[in-house]
Amino acid sequence: MTRYLDVQDVRRLIQARGIERCLGELAGFIRDDFLRWSDFDKSPRLASHSKVGVIELMPASDKTLYGFKYVNGHPGNQRHGKLTVMAFGVLAEVATGYPLLLSDLTLATALRTAATSALAAQAMARTGSRCMAVIGNGCQSEFQIMAFLGLLGIREVRAFDIDPAATAKLRRNLASVEGLRISAAGSVEEAVRGADIVTTITADKARATIVRADMIEPGMHLNAVGGDCPGKTELAAAILERARVVVEYEAQSRIEGEIQQMQPGFAVTELWEVLAGKAQGRGSADEITVFDSVGFALEDFSTLRYLYQRARSARIGRDIELIPELEDPRDLFGLLRETGAMNRPAQLETA
Ligand code: NAD
Repeated sequence: MTRYLDVQDVRRLIQARGIERCLGELAGFIRDDFLRWSDFDKSPRLASHSKVGVIELMPASDKTLYGFKYVNGHPGNQRHGKLTVMAFGVLAEVATGYPLLLSDLTLATALRTAATSALAAQAMARTGSRCMAVIGNGCQSEFQIMAFLGLLGIREVRAFDIDPAATAKLRRNLASVEGLRISAAGSVEEAVRGADIVTTITADKARATIVRADMIEPGMHLNAVGGDCPGKTELAAAILERARVVVEYEAQSRIEGEIQQMQPGFAVTELWEVLAGKAQGRGSADEITVFDSVGFALEDFSTLRYLYQRARSARIGRDIELIPELEDPRDLFGLLRETGAMNRPAQLETA
């Protein structure tokens, strides 16, 4: 049987742990898997682009477990009352190929993206960082703020969105979080000025320059999350030229990340190297650092592993017969025999 988690199950699972605890635990799972980097089969995700968006398949396997996620990115969906990003995924055992888990991953994608950003920032933002600008206040933004609060102690947030209603929604959603101060900025410049960390999480299928080079101050850490497919970027190339840039998986980020703007020889470091202590996340207090996040299948593998473990221990979700359970594994037709489906309808015989 396959454990099935729908949206309400994932909601319950997060509610049972509390979001801060979930983010911390998930960050631990992601870190553990990045530290086993060489164990994994890795490939850039398979993307199917259209004029209005993208649908992607994201597989990863450590030879014991196999996971994949189906995810989309449709910035125009909001105008029709639909989500920009939604996802579901499967975790299977490699030994038999049988699926262990089928789960909604829309909430979990927001959690894992935020947890990965915070993991990177722990190693890359300057010590004592306290204030973060958040540009783009849609679905992902609150998760980012909660992860940076829980994992880095960021208590001051300056939020900006071209749509003030998005900023109002963000402030409303997080109004009861103790110790968190969120102010609405009037422009990107105002949000970024004096911030230790700048998170960009906008949705637009365009080569946008959300943050310009003249807005950047020494020592800033940029957590660039919204630019995640070809022709979709958020940072001026001049920022990347001046910065230490860390990516998740270079082969994919060259296609999809901010670094798609750079020449092929442009030097980057992979996150696993920083987490494993093989490379520095930051060289000095004045250095500008960029985490060029696009979302990598390994993070979803860790998330599926986390959901599966938590769902089983908390008895959340239900087991479904996604795959036929047969007494004789060669007798697939037997499933139909029992229903009488092979009996030819009378009208067919007489036609
Ligand atoms: P969303 O549509 O819910 O929110 C996007 C927000 O960006 C909207 O409120 C919109 O008004 C705002 N925006 C658009 N252009 C802007 C601009 N120039 N300045 C300021 N704000 C602007 O989308 P979401 O689900 O929050 O996703 C945001 C982005 O993050 C998407 O591009 C998505 O593809 C990306 N994403 C990346 C990862 C990753 O792992 N890197 C994971 C999930 C989502």
